Amino acid sequence: MPRPILATIHTESLRHNLGRARQAAPDARVWAIVKANAYGHGIERVFEGLRGADGFALLDLEEARRVRALGWRGPILLLEGVFELRDLELCSRLDLWHTVHCDEQIDMLATHKTNVPHRVFLKMNSGMNRLGFTPQRYRAAWTRLNALPQVDEISLMTHFSDADGARGTAGQMAVFAAVTRDLPGERTLSNSAATLRHALSATATGTPPDSDAASDWVRPGIAVYGSAPDFPEHSASDWALRPGMTLAAKIIATQDLSAGATVGYGSTFVAPQALRVGVVACGYADGYPRACSTGTPVLVNGVRTRMLGRVSMDMITVDLTPVTDAGVGAGFGSEVTLWGRAANGVVLAIDEVAHSAGTVGYELMCGLAPRVPVQVAD
Ligand SMILES: *Cc1c(COP(=O)(O)O)cnc(C)c1O
Repeated sequence: MPRPILATIHTESLRHNLGRARQAAPDARVWAIVKANAYGHGIERVFEGLRGADGFALLDLEEARRVRALGWRGPILLLEGVFELRDLELCSRLDLWHTVHCDEQIDMLATHKTNVPHRVFLKMNSGMNRLGFTPQRYRAAWTRLNALPQVDEISLMTHFSDADGARGTAGQMAVFAAVTRDLPGERTLSNSAATLRHALSATATGTPPDSDAASDWVRPGIAVYGSAPDFPEHSASDWALRPGMTLAAKIIATQDLSAGATVGYGSTFVAPQALRVGVVACGYADGYPRACSTGTPVLVNGVRTRMLGRVSMDMITVDLTPVTDAGVGAGFGSEVTLWGRAANGVVLAIDEVAHSAGTVGYELMCGLAPRVPVQVAD
């Protein structure tokens, strides 16, 4: 029998979450962001759930090739554009749209030989200071691109640094709007947080959604995978998002501790009274964060309990006090849900586990270890 740990990708939940993004921006087209191998879920595994998107956006040419190999003929956008000249040949061959964020990428385009001009997304650095032309230089870049025979349509793009937080998007949106006011072309601004929160504020104030934020295309990533972009202010269930991934394992041993006994490396947990603990076949080498410690929530047989002590490479230990029927047995050890949905339907949001580790759901999804087998479910 293989080691009892398994990740499950929930096709129907991905479809549902994509629908939530559409509801939040009903007039926009939706890019499903599938960079980083679909946030760790696997591009091939999420394709069925996300094929209702209007396009797929990612960073890596190899990933773009995989999306085409799945039979996708619609738009694919390279979010960082090309890295070297010959990448443009693949863009031509695979019909990829690509971001242009620096002068060097325009230089490459100017020397590229192609019969079919490319659709490009010109990126503005409206304040995040990662990629893009500054507002002062943006229009010159647009003019330069517009003069190239290699370029077809130019779309306008920016990315928010604080869509999930108090600082919000208004400042960057104002910069973007001022610079692009009279430029033609489609616009794309919003990630998950901007897409969901902007719809919420529109609902809360009774105003129609502000078309500036929704614009022509929205770019939800994390929300599609069922994690709240602004946890703990909002949870995934606040946003009516469902887990795209479940990580489950089984109890492979139990121990009865007497008061004062300790658990695991460093003896960081000391039993305050007699306690039954379960040893679970999941550790940091599976992608469960080592930064988690006593108190991190976990489900055993769909009942919420907590982790105890330190995370080991291959195991964690959990408190079985609230789960009296939990135990071990050949092939039928109790089910432990590290994140996602248990067999009884109870959900443990990946964001709660991430929060316990001082990180975000994104990192946990992306960090699912290659040794964990993955199944795709309806
Ligand atoms: C990753 C990414 C997104 C998606 O962000 P989420 O927070 O996951 O919704 C959108 N736009 C760009 C440019 C990105 O790189």
